[in-house]
Amino acid sequence: MTTTTLSPAPADLRRYVDALAPRHGVWIDGQGGPARSGATFAVLDPATGEEITAVSDGDAGDAVAAVDAAERAQAAWAATAPRERSEVLRRAFALMVAATQELAGLMSWENGKPLADSRAEVAYAAEFFRWFAEEAVRTEGEFGPSPAGGTRTVVTHRPVGIAALVTPWNFPAAMATRKIAPALAAGCAVVLKPAAETPLTALAVARILAEAGVPDGVVNVVPTTDPAGVVTAWLQDPRVRKLSFTGSTPVGRRLLAQAAERVVNASMELGGNAPFVVAADADVEAAVAGALVAKLRNGGQACTAANRFYVHEDVVERFTDRLGTAVATLTVGPAFAEGTQIGPVINAKALRGITELVDRALAAGARVSHRSALPDGLTGWFYPPTVLRDVPADAEILRTEIFGPVAPVTTWRDTEELLAAVNDTELGLAAYVWSTDLRWALQTAERIEAGMVGVNRGVVSDPATPFGGVKQSGLGREGAREGIREFQETQYLSIDWS
Ligand code: NAD
Repeated sequence: MTTTTLSPAPADLRRYVDALAPRHGVWIDGQGGPARSGATFAVLDPATGEEITAVSDGDAGDAVAAVDAAERAQAAWAATAPRERSEVLRRAFALMVAATQELAGLMSWENGKPLADSRAEVAYAAEFFRWFAEEAVRTEGEFGPSPAGGTRTVVTHRPVGIAALVTPWNFPAAMATRKIAPALAAGCAVVLKPAAETPLTALAVARILAEAGVPDGVVNVVPTTDPAGVVTAWLQDPRVRKLSFTGSTPVGRRLLAQAAERVVNASMELGGNAPFVVAADADVEAAVAGALVAKLRNGGQACTAANRFYVHEDVVERFTDRLGTAVATLTVGPAFAEGTQIGPVINAKALRGITELVDRALAAGARVSHRSALPDGLTGWFYPPTVLRDVPADAEILRTEIFGPVAPVTTWRDTEELLAAVNDTELGLAAYVWSTDLRWALQTAERIEAGMVGVNRGVVSDPATPFGGVKQSGLGREGAREGIREFQETQYLSIDWS
């Protein structure tokens, strides 16, 4: 395959990567160092399967060292004036925006997402620093008389303490900043474990924070191929008072059980199974444009990705035809090749999972209505964007998080039946509703069991809004005012006023 390579290309990023790993892969006390064991692991380019670099492979000992550093920093950071914490976060915002090219390149390299997607993610990720810089100075409490008289009550919100953060690979920058920013704003020191697929972005974010003036030990990063070992060390450590996890529901469930042993405060951002509902009166062109974003942002590897399409039977032919035509003409390829709209999926296991899930849907009666072509010569983990029609209502693919560029389309006729199908899931993270009848759209949206609903919109993520799910999609919210509360404890003083 001949391609024009965009800038920054891997060759331009090499020096940047060499500064992050392998000798400097474990970030503790404001500096990078090797893992205690000296072990490293390979970070792979999903577009080729080739090794990008080796990163230090932290273990439980490194995890404890990270908490030691956080402990040394915690009290002073909590006592730092909110305005000062705010200024540090504001500088981090500016530095991250200024480093967009390098960060986007790094993310495209280790995650595979097209450069335009990576740049958009850097902007989104940086915005959490700006948003929480603004929230850091608004953690007001309350003061007032008690109803019975004779006492005054003061209510304050204090940092919960050292927070353990665990992030996935699909948005390596934004999932990190969505946790780090509110934790720092609240006055918490953090220990972060990024996904082994994408440690470089997290390490780059840690460097940016150091440059912004975050004191040593306030942010520590432990990349590892032994997530259970590192996270268990944190959950067993009495100095760790908070767990904030983003990832799959099965792992989240396991970590919640572990957190319960020490009654650790836990926030969970877990899996999704978003329905995309199109009504008979929807603006079909707009719905297709929204569907392309809701389904294919990040190649479908998003917890908010539209996972199942419920299209009213009156418009299903038109909607599927338009969506399918757009999907069939997408350019699939490596992130750095000009024109790439869809990159590879993250690894061989993901590719196998998506392939088998679609094969089983086809065996159950679904058919491929449209599919994009895969260019010759690709060596990485690519799956062609695909639209499926005639998907049986009980098909596994409608119940399972696909996490890939596949759009299964099914139909509906009656609102009550639609809602029964839409709500027949334990994963209530995001949903999308398209209709020009706003009354119907809003009433339907309110009845969907999901934490976030896009109404005539294909994107729900915004740092200023509370991100999170219901049922087994999670506990707690990130972003918005709620985001900082996840890293605070409430204390009240009862004062004799007689
Ligand atoms: P994953 O659960 O496999 O991994 C997430 C993180 O947990 C990674 O850092 C991983 O190393 C770590 N981990 C894995 N096993 C662990 C264990 N036994 N103990 C401790 N840590 C462990 O998920 P993934 O494949 O990286 O990410 C995809 C999933 O994340 C999807 O289900 C997606 O919906 C979900 N997700 C949710 C949100 C959200 O905000 N709700 C955002 C992004 C992704």
